[in-house]
Amino acid sequence: FKGIAKEPPMHIVHISVEMAPIAKVGGLGDVVTSLSRAVQDLNHTVDIILPKYDCLNLSNVKNFQYRRSYSWGGTEIKVWFGNVEGLSVYFLEPLNGFFGAGCIYGCRNDAERFGFFCHSALEFLLQSGFHPDIIHCHDWSSAPVTWLFKDHYMHYSLSKARVVFTIHNLEFGAGLIGKAMAYTDKATTVSHTYSKEVAGNPSIAPHLYKFHGILNGIDPDIWDPYNDKFIPISYTSENVIEGKRAAKEALQERLGLKKTDLPLVGVITRLTHQKGIHLIKHAIWRTLDRNGQVVLLGSAPDPRIQNDFVNLANQLHSTHCGRARLCLTYDEPLSHLIYAGADFILVPSIFEPCGLTQLIAMRYGSIPVVRKTGGLHDTVFDVDHDTERAQAQGLETNGFNFDGADAAGVDYALDRAISAWYDRRDWFNSLCKRVMEQDWSWNRPALEYMELYHAARK
Ligand code: ADP
Repeated sequence: FKGIAKEPPMHIVHISVEMAPIAKVGGLGDVVTSLSRAVQDLNHTVDIILPKYDCLNLSNVKNFQYRRSYSWGGTEIKVWFGNVEGLSVYFLEPLNGFFGAGCIYGCRNDAERFGFFCHSALEFLLQSGFHPDIIHCHDWSSAPVTWLFKDHYMHYSLSKARVVFTIHNLEFGAGLIGKAMAYTDKATTVSHTYSKEVAGNPSIAPHLYKFHGILNGIDPDIWDPYNDKFIPISYTSENVIEGKRAAKEALQERLGLKKTDLPLVGVITRLTHQKGIHLIKHAIWRTLDRNGQVVLLGSAPDPRIQNDFVNLANQLHSTHCGRARLCLTYDEPLSHLIYAGADFILVPSIFEPCGLTQLIAMRYGSIPVVRKTGGLHDTVFDVDHDTERAQAQGLETNGFNFDGADAAGVDYALDRAISAWYDRRDWFNSLCKRVMEQDWSWNRPALEYMELYHAARK
């Protein structure tokens, strides 16, 4: 990447419908914030354009202020500005009420709302006299940027811009994603293995020449056990055992679990088919059979799944009182305490474009137990099987993985993990230390994005 360092600074504008921590649903929100911060740290200029939802978490926006308004699409659009995690963010508030629905997704007319947002974001760039080098959009929700730009805005003063489109999840809005793939200058997805897994998909296959897998990173300042107000004591790999012991006790205390040192398996996830619901359930029972403790933090957009887990929670909280706790909600502070207090973080996804939870787990010295798919395959190297594959990446092994999508698969990985905890504690403790020292930040991926941005401009 040496050549890139000498290139002049670029101006990159993200048009996105999610941004952590103010409007986050999943990994997309994390990536927009943490990639932007990493690119900005490389001395480029980054702006983010976001809808001004009524449900924005404004306590995390600094210097929030009204800027101006403009008319487009038969309505007035107010522009607000603020600073989020050190990033400049423009918030668009159309007075037609599109973003006053109390949620990010889940409206009947989501495609219309976000299509409107994409159009008004480009209009905002044009009317404000911005001349970005790169316009970066994400998933089906800002896919329309690609064709609106090529069909209209490219012909105005935004002509020097190139468009980059990132697929965080191909499950949703395949039609819109396929169209964006045709129009965009460059496309990425969030891990190498996922890029191979989706290469045969009809919306991707014709466009492989401009499609690249770049692994997501995590923001080491946002996820930092040495500086985390949600955990009891600060720790690094030097005092990881002590730090995690204190976090485990705090977690047990908070969730009413028995305060004994048992292997603790954590799960932090959206509860959807993608995440391997039947495997998660099986792993809960298996962990309890092995006399471990389980904490699950998750919420289901589908009320039937949510209900199912509420029933399971009631059952477990009576039969295995003190050893299992399911928190069926979204709770960022609690997630930090689980990452720190768990011995293992389980991610048995059916498919997983990148996955951030296994990376965050490692940053907190928790051992990932994952299904070998997508980004999980690219980041978790089995202690018994993947020594060579890890070495090829300049890494040491860091977790447990399995292949099948059935109970036997989960058992294979989970049993080895729990047995290591019981029978080889010193080795297990050294593994915790080792995973903490691996670098899953944006250091490397941000350079790959810069290279891609430059290639888009050639
Ligand atoms: P996806 O984007 O498919 O949901 P990722 O692993 O890429 O999955 O990102 C999930 C992110 O959301 C992580 O930062 C994780 O900590 C967070 N998360 C998921 N569920 C919850 C929850 N119930 N409470 C708090 N944070 C959650």
